[in-house]
Amino acid sequence: MDASSGPVIALSGGVGGAKLVLGLYRILPPDTLTVVANTGDDFEHLGLTVCPDLDTLLYTLSGQANPELGWGRADETWTFMAALQRLGGETWFRLGDGDLATHVERTRRLAGGESLSAVIDSFRRRLGIGARLLPMSDDAVRTRLETDRGALDFQDYFVRLRCEPAVRRLHFAGSETARPHPEAIAALAHPALRAVVICPSNPFISIDPILAVPGMRDTLRASKAPVVAVSPIIGGQAVKGPTAKMMAELGLPVDATTVAHRYADFLDVYVADEADADAVAGLDMPVVLGPTLMQTLEGRERLASLVLETADRVRK
Ligand code: GDP
Repeated sequence: MDASSGPVIALSGGVGGAKLVLGLYRILPPDTLTVVANTGDDFEHLGLTVCPDLDTLLYTLSGQANPELGWGRADETWTFMAALQRLGGETWFRLGDGDLATHVERTRRLAGGESLSAVIDSFRRRLGIGARLLPMSDDAVRTRLETDRGALDFQDYFVRLRCEPAVRRLHFAGSETARPHPEAIAALAHPALRAVVICPSNPFISIDPILAVPGMRDTLRASKAPVVAVSPIIGGQAVKGPTAKMMAELGLPVDATTVAHRYADFLDVYVADEADADAVAGLDMPVVLGPTLMQTLEGRERLASLVLETADRVRK
């Protein structure tokens, strides 16, 4: 098989990562793409299992994502939330009516004994998504944060407190005993693998939980395929979300090099924005500069092409 037609794996969180995943999905034969998603943001809410990153990927790849909100579904209605509010229920985490169907159906099937990956695989097929979409593990891993306001569950920090508390330390509860999804490990070890793409997701809360699942990091290190990461920092700032704020709170330099250093043990090449040329000049690894802000569909496809061309060039 020609190297440039081999399978591609992307490690992704939600919104930022899903933009590049969509670009990859649009330029690759769909069945060559496998996405391994963070589940550290998952939580139980109103009796339902909610998987924000997997659902963002499902909605993005099936053309249902809400471009204004940056999460949830387009053309959503909010009758359930309004009714819940009238009853005095918890409304800090907003669930649209259509989105609710995803959580209700997932929860019902999990309670019936299906694995999370089986449920997600069935959803993505029903939604016409040709790429594989895998949770990093079928075992529960939950991101918890130690902050200046005490220990917090991820969604308490992220949604209820809008990332305001200063983060001191992160912990991925359950990661010590979680088993990586076997298909993710098999895909990473595939002899014809073309590239592993670390999407421009938050390194602390989207990519680190995936790397914390035993076996993931070692398999990446051992991978024969080029591992390419895209910087989530552009011009020394996060495009969105708490990435830069967390870097500062954790005492790390707030620039694109911090992300490269976190992945240095398995990374073959780093794609950084042209705006960060000076910041990354001293990095002790191959760096490719390009326009990495994905504001349009073409921007997503352009960055996806750059990432794959870069992987093909550094192929071992
Ligand atoms: P997630 O971590 O993938 O769930 O998504 P977030 O929306 O929380 O964003 C995470 C990171 O993605 C942030 O550090 C953003 O700066 C980065 N990001 C968002 N959009 C873009 C983009 O268009 N280009 C690049 N390079 N990074 C982006």
